[in-house]
Amino acid sequence: MANRAYNFNAGPAALPLEVLQQAQEQFVEFRGSGMSLMEMSHRGAIYEGVHQETEQLLRELLNVPEGYKVLFLQGGASTQFAMVPMNLLKPGTVGAYVATGSWATKAIEEAKLFGETTIAASSEADQYKRIPAAAEIALPDNAAYLHVTSNETIEGTQWASYPDTGTVPLIGDLSSDILCRPLNVSQFGLVYAGAQKNLGPSGVTIVIIREDLIGKPAGPVPTMLRYATHAKTDSLYNTPPTFAIYMTNLVLRWVKAQGGAAGVERVNQEKAGLLYAAIDGSDGFYRGFAETGSRSVMNVTFRLASEELEKQFAKESEAQGFSGLKGHRSVGGLRASIYNAVPLENVRALVDFMGDFARRNG
Ligand SMILES: *Cc1c(COP(=O)(O)O)cnc(C)c1O
Repeated sequence: MANRAYNFNAGPAALPLEVLQQAQEQFVEFRGSGMSLMEMSHRGAIYEGVHQETEQLLRELLNVPEGYKVLFLQGGASTQFAMVPMNLLKPGTVGAYVATGSWATKAIEEAKLFGETTIAASSEADQYKRIPAAAEIALPDNAAYLHVTSNETIEGTQWASYPDTGTVPLIGDLSSDILCRPLNVSQFGLVYAGAQKNLGPSGVTIVIIREDLIGKPAGPVPTMLRYATHAKTDSLYNTPPTFAIYMTNLVLRWVKAQGGAAGVERVNQEKAGLLYAAIDGSDGFYRGFAETGSRSVMNVTFRLASEELEKQFAKESEAQGFSGLKGHRSVGGLRASIYNAVPLENVRALVDFMGDFARRNG
């Protein structure tokens, strides 16, 4: 067995070891077909079976109600920053955004290219350390939608519950926390997520869209960037990213075996609880970045007394087999990304390392 690191990468991120081993077993010849899954037509029965099953698993695990399409797209969540306004932002309406951090800001900047936008609420004045309260959100009457970033991967904040937007469609970027807990899809008009944090490898983006939002965009939109194109063809308009969808299929089967969304949520709570307890119990040696009520169960961000000490932490942890703990270059500090596939034992090992590091340097 290869020597596996304690992988706390932010994305692409850890995959379940069982999934990697299954993919390895099936890599050269897929289920008696005489070839690899990557060597066969996306129009053939074998690939189509994988494709349909992946959609069914997502529907089951996320409890997707009737009236929603599940799409497999390319271009990452970053392409959704454009597709959402291109398809949904009509003249005379405004795209409303909650500015919670780095990813929300990118979504807003992109939307500005396509129409009128407004910041319905923001925590910028608090360095994005918190998620605004529902009461802070000012939604204009002519809002086309309200866009929220469910989990700010870089700052380490997460919505505990989503705002009620009435008849205005709520749109969620769930790239870094999709399937970390049960989801009430019916609260949303559209959710999207790049797969490479919680669902699989990079290369496929999941979009779940309410059918009434699929209609005709107001302006000219390239065929590939219209939701309608992919909704009408079960995401088989052109060649889909077959390998990424196949890997996502294996990850979803694995999630199901863990007890589904509720099962992984229990473990996620335990993992995050261990890390936040280590931070809060360190007498100020470790300082959590996010405000307590806005803390993410997926990305745990923290700082030390000096950048010097943070560098030392990153270096020593790496030497001991931990990977990916350095914070994003835009905010500094340290970050442990503990997506679904990060085992509880690895979090325990990190907590031990943190305690040891604090004793030696406190
Ligand atoms: C990683 C991430 C993105 C960008 O995803 P790409 O697939 O690389 O475009 C967008 N939003 C959030 C919340 C992310 O974590």
